Amino acid sequence: MVCPICKKPVKPEDPEFPFCGERCRIIDLGNWASEKYVIPEPSQPERKKDDEEDEA
Ligand SMILES: [Zn+2]
Repeated sequence: MVCPICKKPVKPEDPEFPFCGERCRIIDLGNWASEKYVIPEPSQPERKKDDEEDEA
C-alpha cells in the first residue's frame, strides 16, 4: 500500500494507515470535505472502491 496523498509506502500496521502520517490524513480529510462542496452533479453511476487491497 502507498499513502494516497504522497504515495509513500505505508504498512498496514502504521497507526495512520492508509496514510503515512497524520499530516496526510488531515490533507485527505480536507480533500474529501472540499470534494463534497465541488461536486456539481453525480456523474459517476458506480463508484466502488472495494478493491483497494490489491497488494499488501
Ligand atoms: Zn503521505
